[in-house]
Amino acid sequence: MSVSPVCPRCGEVLVVHPGVTDEGWCHLHAAVTPLHYTAVVAHDAIAAVSADARVPAWVPDPMPSGWSVTGLAWGGEPGARAIVVACSGPAPLGGVAEMVLVAEEPGTGLGCGYAGLPGVDPGELVGGPSTAEVQAAGQRAPLWPVPTPDDRAAFVGEAYGVWLWLVTWPASAAWLLAEDLSLLDLRERIYPDLPLGPPSDHLLPGS
Ligand SMILES: [Zn+2]
Repeated sequence: MSVSPVCPRCGEVLVVHPGVTDEGWCHLHAAVTPLHYTAVVAHDAIAAVSADARVPAWVPDPMPSGWSVTGLAWGGEPGARAIVVACSGPAPLGGVAEMVLVAEEPGTGLGCGYAGLPGVDPGELVGGPSTAEVQAAGQRAPLWPVPTPDDRAAFVGEAYGVWLWLVTWPASAAWLLAEDLSLLDLRERIYPDLPLGPPSDHLLPGS
């Protein structure tokens, strides 16, 4: 169900050695966790990936009006150590917005890849007063803004002991956060009528 895995930091296709499932080689970033993804997202793929995942698979619950899940990517298999759920829908200020929700173990570099940051972890960006928050599986998760290119906005915090990233295009779609965004972990509850949509432009990092 997966096409060739890519680098979690830049989205380039990896060299993966036969028989090695937990490490790929990026010509820019050296050894990385392979990021797998589906070209077209389906409920059975979501169920299969989240079933044995080591990190949450976050989706908005409820989904904002008119929004759908448009992509799924996961780092490492089996037992994903990072999961990306991409969503798209009407932007709060008009037009179409996209959002990726990332849960990842430290050192993966996936959230930084979407945000456009050079490192693998947010480091000192997390600290001091938070500027936003979401409810992640019923727990308050403070979020901190991170510097990004002008076309997007990114926030990072922590939930379930791993990073939680939220990146939106355009930047103004971060207004979703002003509306009491709640996230559901698909490992804990199947969402049988989760709306699915066509593939997202921003499913892979570095785009
Ligand atoms: Zn790379």
